[in-house]
Amino acid sequence: MIRSGRFSDKKILLIDREPKTKNDRTWCFWEAGDSFFESIVYRKWPRVDFLSDTYQATLTISPYEYKMIRGADFYQYCFQEISRHPQIEIIYAEIGGCSTDEKSTTLVLNQAQFQLPPAVVFNAVYRPGTSRLNVLQHFKGWVIETEQPVFDPGKASLMDFRVHQQEGTTFAYVLPFDAHKALVEYTLFTPQLLASEQYDQELKNYIRDFLKITQYTVKEEEFGIIPMTDEKFPIQQNGVIHIGTAGGQTKASSGYTFQFIQKQSDRILELLLKGESLSHLKPTPWRFRFYDNTLLYILYHKTLPGRKIFSTLFKKNKATQVLKFLDNESTLREELGIISSLPTWPFLKAALMQLR
Ligand SMILES: Cc1cc2nc3c(=O)[nH]c(=O)nc-3n(C[C@H](O)[C@H](O)[C@H](O)COP(=O)(O)OP(=O)(O)OC[C@H]3O[C@@H](n4cnc5c(N)ncnc54)[C@H](O)[C@@H]3O)c2cc1C
Repeated sequence: MIRSGRFSDKKILLIDREPKTKNDRTWCFWEAGDSFFESIVYRKWPRVDFLSDTYQATLTISPYEYKMIRGADFYQYCFQEISRHPQIEIIYAEIGGCSTDEKSTTLVLNQAQFQLPPAVVFNAVYRPGTSRLNVLQHFKGWVIETEQPVFDPGKASLMDFRVHQQEGTTFAYVLPFDAHKALVEYTLFTPQLLASEQYDQELKNYIRDFLKITQYTVKEEEFGIIPMTDEKFPIQQNGVIHIGTAGGQTKASSGYTFQFIQKQSDRILELLLKGESLSHLKPTPWRFRFYDNTLLYILYHKTLPGRKIFSTLFKKNKATQVLKFLDNESTLREELGIISSLPTWPFLKAALMQLR
């Protein structure tokens, strides 16, 4: 939060409920070339597997690479950079709310209200709003280690839909660190969570039945929930600019967020450096939200199995085109090509429901 005065000599407050030290998440994303975080990319793969009962392929994704950043490395890298800027003050407190206008900024921290001078305020605390469609992307992952060299570090798996689909859209994936170590995740796109022991059981089954591994040690685990929703995310509310998931940067149909956050951050920085108003920030283009909500409708109402949709997407289109589309970077012409490869009626019906 920037308090007052010109940008270069302002005091910045960074408020979080807790220090970011744990390796609480692993970010994966695809990228063509290198970017700001290249030095902390933990592993990257030039090829990814897509697996289902109807389509199996190793996809070459050049010019993209599929990359992984570990949460702990990301936090260390960012806080090291932050520590070089004495104008940034870090405060650990529970944020109850915030608002700002041309007269003052109000902050509720640990249930106490603070009045500060007017400021530019960015908020990354997500508080769910109104929506019609709510799917959760929930997953549990284990980093496993084996005595025998069983993984191919030259490729990752993006989605393995060969697992049962009893709860709804479900897939697993494997991100090998080397021949002996990999992160194995079990993921669902459903409105309800599983009981905690179910994730463990499904991971065990997947490792035994599909990876054919019987001897291994679980070194680390992660659990996550990413909201996939048709909620309309206002960029600005009570003078506060929402960023990250709170700012609508989670793609509703895939849960991928990391790269959208980087793009939003680049845009914010560009405006600040040019001295332009942050009111120029734009929401996700309407047509991409429309596509996302259409797919979300299908996943939510289970009018088509997610396994069939993703298998068709990757079978009938070039993987790079699909990744570009999922990045919201495709042209309308490319999108029409991709949409026409999908089953017409369920998508048409779901699309019409979005226009109501
Ligand atoms: C386990 C996991 C794995 C993920 N993997 C991927 C991935 O592979 N690829 C991808 O693209 N996306 C992934 N995501 C989705 C998304 O990229 C992450 O959730 C990302 O961290 C979102 O960034 P953010 O800044 O919006 O929120 P966060 O990173 O969650 O930051 C919000 C911050 O606000 C703090 N906070 C929250 N509430 C309060 C409060 N009331 N008071 C004070 N502080 C508060 C939190 O401590 C946190 O530091 C993953 C998410 C999870 C949970």
